[in-house]
Amino acid sequence: MTDEKKKKIIKTIRIDVDKCNGCRACEVICSAFHAEPKYSSNNPARSRIRVIHEPLRDIYIPVYAGEYTVAECAGRDKYTIDGKEYDECAFCRASCPSRVEFKEPDSGLPLKCDMCEGEEEPLCVRWCLADALIYEEREEEVAEEDVLTEQEDLELGLESLAKKYGLKQIIDTVARMSKED
Ligand code: SF4
Ligand code: SF4
Repeated sequence: MTDEKKKKIIKTIRIDVDKCNGCRACEVICSAFHAEPKYSSNNPARSRIRVIHEPLRDIYIPVYAGEYTVAECAGRDKYTIDGKEYDECAFCRASCPSRVEFKEPDSGLPLKCDMCEGEEEPLCVRWCLADALIYEEREEEVAEEDVLTEQEDLELGLESLAKKYGLKQIIDTVARMSKED
């Protein structure tokens, strides 16, 4: 077995919850950027970043979509930070069966942040005038066998989607999206 290492750029968005004012500009631009064709519509329900709002306590928590998970997790934690209590799942980035966030409204297919592929900087970061979203890149060394090619990554994603939703729904959704294009 080889222990050769490869460099990988990890892209992340650091979130400063205290600065978020709940304007939802990040949701607007994300959904517009990912519309088919690009910028043809804007529907925050299709956004890969969602601002979770707790109206009674006036708390806004921006969360951007991470990996899709087939099963809901077993642990449900409550968080208290600076005297404010945050609901269970509030910080979770997964598209998961027990939450409505990060699902394509028509098909129910999971949505995942792609860091606005092709753009120099994520658009939600650029549109956040409150500086609550901060784009960061770091380089990490990973084992060569842990670096998936784009094709492997795509196949893995499609395989898990097909397991959960059935191949027909995936094909119907792709067909619908290409008609809109
Ligand atoms: S654009 Fe910034 S301030 Fe507005 S909701 Fe999104 S994260 Fe919060
Ligand atoms: S980085 Fe791009 S895809 Fe990800 S949440 Fe922000 S706007 Fe959406």
